[in-house]
Amino acid sequence: MGIYLDHAATTRMRDEVIEEMMPYFQTHYGNAASSYGLGVESRRALNHARTSIADTLQAKPEEIYFTSGGTEADNWAIRGITEACKEKGKHIITSKIEHPAVLQTCRFLESQGYEITYLNVDSSGSVDVKELESAIRKDTILISIMYANNEVGTIQPVQQISEIAHARGVLFHTDAVQAYGQIPVSAKRDGFDMLSASAHKFNGPKGVGFLYVRGYQKIDSFIRGGEQEVGKRAGTENVPGIVGMAKAAELAQQEMPERMQRTQRLRNLLWSRISEEIPKVTSNTSAKDILPGILNVSFGGRESAQMLGHLDRKEIYASGGSACSSQDRKPSHVLLAMGKTPEEIRGAVRFSLGYDNTEEEIELVMDVLTKMR
Ligand code: PLP
Repeated sequence: MGIYLDHAATTRMRDEVIEEMMPYFQTHYGNAASSYGLGVESRRALNHARTSIADTLQAKPEEIYFTSGGTEADNWAIRGITEACKEKGKHIITSKIEHPAVLQTCRFLESQGYEITYLNVDSSGSVDVKELESAIRKDTILISIMYANNEVGTIQPVQQISEIAHARGVLFHTDAVQAYGQIPVSAKRDGFDMLSASAHKFNGPKGVGFLYVRGYQKIDSFIRGGEQEVGKRAGTENVPGIVGMAKAAELAQQEMPERMQRTQRLRNLLWSRISEEIPKVTSNTSAKDILPGILNVSFGGRESAQMLGHLDRKEIYASGGSACSSQDRKPSHVLLAMGKTPEEIRGAVRFSLGYDNTEEEIELVMDVLTKMR
């Protein structure tokens, strides 16, 4: 089975989640739009899932829209608002360290005549709220800043960003794909207008996620067709996937304090062992507020691709940055924005731990790392 230290890329589904999904493949397989009993059962399951997810966010069920994952939710949030607010302006603020789902959407919008401000981050990966405030213009329609970064784990000052955005009459979307299910996230406390999440990052199924849109906010339809998701996101609902996501969200919420503590303790253990036993290492996970499971380390004088290959041969799975950029071997845009040196970027490895990792696994990983030539 190996040692899986890549939970920021994806996670293993929980048995309870699979069990919850199973009846919706073969027993309750009805289309939620059908009026007979089989359809009614699927509709009931969707309503239940919507309410459960809303509860975890301190939101209302009608503020949750199901999507095919985080990428779709990010695309929809940005494109849906630009369409709905096109009379107001064509300026968007984001950061240099966003996931490609946000960055590439912004790049596309640039080609359509929008102006995008890409905020800098400091050496720990945090945006500067003063820089954000001064970037807001009369024609700014949207701020899109991630809740927590997928490569280095930095948590952004989401509540402050909401306050600044609202004081200036600008909408705020946050990509919480790495944060939701890992740390407490609340629509009530945090104040964002929109939020993206994805089930496979919190032990749910792949290919399903949601977009939260605050009740008063109008957003344009993303996928046109039938009347699903009140006509905003057409297409027959992925009922088993949505049921599984809701179960995974409930479990994550119930077990969060314990999971956070456990994962954080293992992450700290891994870093203290690496920093004590391996020369020339620096941690790129250095912000005050960080996700519990992420540790991004630069191994001086090393090539991350080589290290990952070696770890892979020992059945230890980690990553060179985000899973999405690991194929193309481009230097990490996140570490570049944080001002890391080319050597630090070349030797960067992201370990992302989950609640199911163990101390023995850390021991085995250290054994391999310390023997590496
Ligand atoms: N946003 C962030 C921060 C992510 O880490 C990811 C996935 O790696 C995504 C968006 C995309 O989510 P999905 O895989 O559900 O499309």
